[in-house]
Amino acid sequence: MLDKVVIANRGEIALRVLRACKELGIKTVAVHSKADESLMHVRLADESVCIGPNSPVESYLNIPALIAAAEVTDATAIHPGYGFLSENADFAEQVEKSGFIFIGPSPDVIRLMGDKVSAIAAMKAAGVPTVPGSDGELTDDDERTLSIARRIGYPVIIKAAGGGGGRGMRVVHRESALLSSVGLTKAESKAAFDNDTVYLEKFLENPRHVEFQVLSDGQGGAVHLGDRDCSLQRRHQKVIEEAPAPGIDADARATVAAACTKACIEIAYKGAGTFEFLYEDGHFYFIEMNTRVQVEHPVTEMISGVDIVKEQLLIASGLPLSITQDDVKLEGHAFECRINAEDPKTFMPSPGLVNQFHAPGGNGIRVDSHLYSGYKIPPYYDSLIAKIIAYGPDRETALIRMKNALDEAVVDGIRTNIPLHQELVRDPYFMKGGVNIHYLEKKLEEA
Ligand code: ADP
Repeated sequence: MLDKVVIANRGEIALRVLRACKELGIKTVAVHSKADESLMHVRLADESVCIGPNSPVESYLNIPALIAAAEVTDATAIHPGYGFLSENADFAEQVEKSGFIFIGPSPDVIRLMGDKVSAIAAMKAAGVPTVPGSDGELTDDDERTLSIARRIGYPVIIKAAGGGGGRGMRVVHRESALLSSVGLTKAESKAAFDNDTVYLEKFLENPRHVEFQVLSDGQGGAVHLGDRDCSLQRRHQKVIEEAPAPGIDADARATVAAACTKACIEIAYKGAGTFEFLYEDGHFYFIEMNTRVQVEHPVTEMISGVDIVKEQLLIASGLPLSITQDDVKLEGHAFECRINAEDPKTFMPSPGLVNQFHAPGGNGIRVDSHLYSGYKIPPYYDSLIAKIIAYGPDRETALIRMKNALDEAVVDGIRTNIPLHQELVRDPYFMKGGVNIHYLEKKLEEA
């Protein structure tokens, strides 16, 4: 078992990792920027180290400072959380070279999945369904590019191999715009990601975002924990997630889930991971893999009873998976609302002093949050302040519990998007289930 873990993150996920470590009797080191001294997990950790000033580049993205923190505290491993350096293969490599365990897959696997062209090729080889596309990068051969798009049919989407966070993509509706769009995406991608490799895919018009959670030990053991629907998004940021995804074709789901676990074994994947798909007309299309724990992992924990972060720690300790696919029983339904410190109408960030915080509770309610009354939210980081998770034996019950929880929550002193969530959980289409990825933005435009 790991002896001592550095938690290389902040906010709710740092607290989430700390709690899992405590359950397993692992000692914890909190690292924080100057602004983050008063974070809840810093208070609760066995040790804490200030790694730099407020700017993320000088603190949470500062690789030498993080490794130095592991050295001075004589830690065994580093948990990257999500965001920041969690999918940075160079970071994972330097952690390992410095003699520590990186809690996640190997640098090679992070690299393979971090490049979308190589990720898609690896997934295709493992039998995971992908979007019809160029099957590799677009070359300088314009005739080839034009004929690929003609074969697939318009609209198509040009995507940067190194893209992320919804950037580096361009939709093309007609042939006359194709080559100039390829050129623009290449130039942008070079500037943003220092990589001008682009590829082309069929643009799906009204898909849903459905993803599969996996756990894999890198020793031949792999399971999936079912799927999540994360279609309710604004600017590619998920707002509400649920598990399982409602109204999915059972055969398609079973086939894709099996392909994901098989792919994990083939690439010797180690840790928790997510296969993201677009789902349209009963078919799944792989778009990318996230090689880390995700914000929305609790909805899967609620329906599976598996503690995903604890499993990450056990896998990183070198233990084989303790469960097989037959042990995984998915029961009930769960929703997660991401509560942000932002204006519910303009989405402008709203940092500042939280005079009063009251977390909702009751049967089936879980709140993952680092907030407390008197905590001051700094303006330098992501605006996520809490995740309200509601579980029920069925979707309707879970949703009623979520409504009540949102009505109970008190975050006084700043603005939050709770009013938006209160409206969304009463939206007739969302209540019915199965809205597509454009639904929320269209609803906001019409409002
Ligand atoms: P990123 O790494 O930037 O998140 P993704 O490949 O996951 O990039 O794509 C982000 C989003 O872009 C998807 O959730 C979806 O909304 C849209 N998208 C990507 N590929 C397609 C496609 N082939 N058809 C339609 N929409 C797409």
